[in-house]
Amino acid sequence: MKTRVRTVIRVSQSRSRPPLSPLSPQPYYRSFSQLQSRQERPSFGIAFDIDGVILRGRVPIGGSPQALRRLYGDSGALKIPFLFLTNGGGIPESRRAVELSKLLGVDILPSQQVFIILCFGQLINSFSRFENKLIVAIGKGEPSLVMSEYGFKKVLSLDEYASYFENIDPVSQYKAWTTKQEFNGHSNPKELVPRIDVLSDKVKAAFVVSDPVDWGRDIQVLCDILRSGGLPGQENGHQPPLYFAADDLEYQAAFPSNRLGMGAFRIALESIFNRIHHNALEFISYGKPNPFVFNNAEAILRQLQPSSYQYNGHTRSHPFKTLYMIGDNPLVDIKGAKQAGHPWFSILTRTGVFRGKENHAEFPADLVVDTVEEAVNYILKKECNS
Ligand SMILES: [Mg+2]
Repeated sequence: MKTRVRTVIRVSQSRSRPPLSPLSPQPYYRSFSQLQSRQERPSFGIAFDIDGVILRGRVPIGGSPQALRRLYGDSGALKIPFLFLTNGGGIPESRRAVELSKLLGVDILPSQQVFIILCFGQLINSFSRFENKLIVAIGKGEPSLVMSEYGFKKVLSLDEYASYFENIDPVSQYKAWTTKQEFNGHSNPKELVPRIDVLSDKVKAAFVVSDPVDWGRDIQVLCDILRSGGLPGQENGHQPPLYFAADDLEYQAAFPSNRLGMGAFRIALESIFNRIHHNALEFISYGKPNPFVFNNAEAILRQLQPSSYQYNGHTRSHPFKTLYMIGDNPLVDIKGAKQAGHPWFSILTRTGVFRGKENHAEFPADLVVDTVEEAVNYILKKECNS
């Protein structure tokens, strides 16, 4: 039972304000306006990967700000339904939207009906049995805050959780950095979740929300939780469920060559756990290339279509002829779009994980381009001429 999921950042067309920077005329802008006037609703939508396509680290790449601005009209209203499909997590939705707005110069703000939906948030109904149970959230950023915003009421980050167990990390004194968070006021987990007795309550599930920071400590504590049945230091017990938000082996960050991702951490944890425990590690990984992600993205894009109409009291939208997935990783972005099938059309950029001259051999994209700007040019030109 191994499937995968991720992060969806949703941008609604409603009440959108103009982009922060006015648009300069672009090659296909005029013809695209004509398209809009003769055809009220676009029959296509776009899903952008972020790392290696829109950003490298925190720096926009591939002409991404210009490319995104082309999806807005003169008035600043969003004309083309688009969203971001990314594995980057660990930051609450509202903060991620503000950060993206600043980096890209496009006004992606919560006040404009912009939402960032983590995969675990989308699956909240499936996880409702954990809503009032002790769970741990692992990864960079603020994984426990992300999970608590999705309704989990007794969630602790692994940093916080481990801090309750003296000597659980035998090499902590040799670490030059501190893994203890500065808690203040209401952010103190002991005040947030006063009904949890961490030293006696069992952890009912573990969620790897974003890339883990301290692999050694995290693997140690996760092995403790998972093989003991939820309480470190106890005898072996039934393994609590373990979920990963993604399974990327590598991804493109600020460093010139690829960095190890959540999938690499999963392999390390699984390898070690299976050596020290009699039962193999059980887990579920979500994220691209899981078809769930693409089906969900299609449903969200349909809601974003400007001309959804009312029928028998229900909001209906017209089916898309084409949905474009623009990504840099053949194994997740392109494989996922191909598995999802119609109406997905995959576009592979050369700004991230993939740098080949030709197409990828194992998971060839429908189109290979250098940059995301080139991809958007292609889409608008094609759609205007169709
Ligand atoms: Mg990527």
